[in-house]
Amino acid sequence: MANCNRKNLYATQNMADEYVNFYNSDLLRNESDKLNSYYCGLHRGWHVGHQKLPSQMSKSERINRLLDAGL
Ligand SMILES: [Zn+2]
Repeated sequence: MANCNRKNLYATQNMADEYVNFYNSDLLRNESDKLNSYYCGLHRGWHVGHQKLPSQMSKSERINRLLDAGL
């Protein structure tokens, strides 16, 4: 979550999820292109981002995610 300064910030998870649901409800949307919401401690709000399965991540992405989770 280091590069979230330019991401939209939502005050509540509900607001973020509203956008997530709108985006994911597109029938043409690929499974691997779906969004999810997550809390950002840096901005004290919610961001929306692409969810990635660990198997789809590069090694460095997996490490970054572990580092994020530990902070
Ligand atoms: Zn943030």
